[in-house]
Amino acid sequence: MPIAQAVPVAPPALRRPTRPAAEPILLSPPQLTGQEIHRLAATLESGWIAPAGPVPAAFEAALAPVLGLPQVLATASGTAALHLGYRVLGLVPGDEVWTATLTYVATIAPAVQMGARPRFLDVAEESWTLDPNLLERELARAARAGRLPRAVVPVDLFGQSCDLDAITALCDRWGVAVLCDSAESLGATRRGRPAGQGARLAAFSFNGNKIITAGGGGALASDDPALIAEARRLAAQAKEAAPHYQHETTGYSYGLSSILAAVGLAQLGALPARVEARRAIFARYQAGLGDLPGIAFMPEPDWSRGTRWLTALTLDPAAGAPGREAARLALATAGIESRPVWKPMHLQPAFRRAPRAGGAVAAQLFEQGLCLPSGSALGAAQQARVIGILRGLWNA
Ligand SMILES: *Cc1c(COP(=O)(O)O)cnc(C)c1O
Repeated sequence: MPIAQAVPVAPPALRRPTRPAAEPILLSPPQLTGQEIHRLAATLESGWIAPAGPVPAAFEAALAPVLGLPQVLATASGTAALHLGYRVLGLVPGDEVWTATLTYVATIAPAVQMGARPRFLDVAEESWTLDPNLLERELARAARAGRLPRAVVPVDLFGQSCDLDAITALCDRWGVAVLCDSAESLGATRRGRPAGQGARLAAFSFNGNKIITAGGGGALASDDPALIAEARRLAAQAKEAAPHYQHETTGYSYGLSSILAAVGLAQLGALPARVEARRAIFARYQAGLGDLPGIAFMPEPDWSRGTRWLTALTLDPAAGAPGREAARLALATAGIESRPVWKPMHLQPAFRRAPRAGGAVAAQLFEQGLCLPSGSALGAAQQARVIGILRGLWNA
């Protein structure tokens, strides 16, 4: 009997009687270059497939000029890179770590797991990233109280660099380290400098939804060779130079597999094209929706050139727009994935008791903000479907 006959068939009432459903449209699916299969074949044939050896090293060497940071460690994930970053900054239980409240949980989760006390700061309306004016006030206050944080962790959100120049200048004044979470913003610049460059450490992600992917993976980068050397030692179980595996401390198994590094190498050359593709998608959304009342796109300050990793916008019902959830559900019904802007960390039950400074800007962006399908392979016809469904909500 053919295997296909063993598959249960939906009863007639559950089958869709009408025209075939249109292809689902995902938020940010990976786009392959066609080179991955060749890189993978060469890697497998070479026998170097562990999370060590020439392929991760080649990926790191290729990343350094793109990041504008000479010291790069490829890691198993962006979260692992952040975890290693916190370790090499010497974070100990009880230390404070300050981050932008508008982010993905991975920014702060490793620090919390290490016993740090998180503190969430609001974002600036002009960039949706950490507000330098608020940071300045809070650092001055913390210095007076003798309670400076171990690290400030700004986040490069949705493809836009934070105002890292202002943030590092403030933190330098008080000797506070900056670990920049650039996981969403590979390829972005501010004042002509790559996202993350200028921070003590910067973390990147090659997860499947990011602008380029290794099928999973990340990187920790710095100007400082000692910090990255220490992260490299910790990423491979903190082995000392001894044949019997001597350990002065404990580490992690956080190296990037050669298999994934091969995929990353095949993707990296496409980064400039991917940035232009995502920016073009953003421009088409702006042209197709920008005239509608109550709609506003994530701003790009004059010092920033982002990647528009995700096109993010706000819908203000008081100004004539549909609610964010109404829009999301209308898209979902048509098989189109969209997602609310990150729920701020200060509103997450996991951080109920964490102190914060401000938060109203981020809370409003969460309430009104929606991220639209932004994959670099999104076709013009697919995008027109998204735009058409959204426009229909204003006519209803
Ligand atoms: C994706 C992401 C990460 C984590 O990256 P993984 O590779 O998924 O571990 C960290 N921070 C932010 C802001 C992210 O968007």
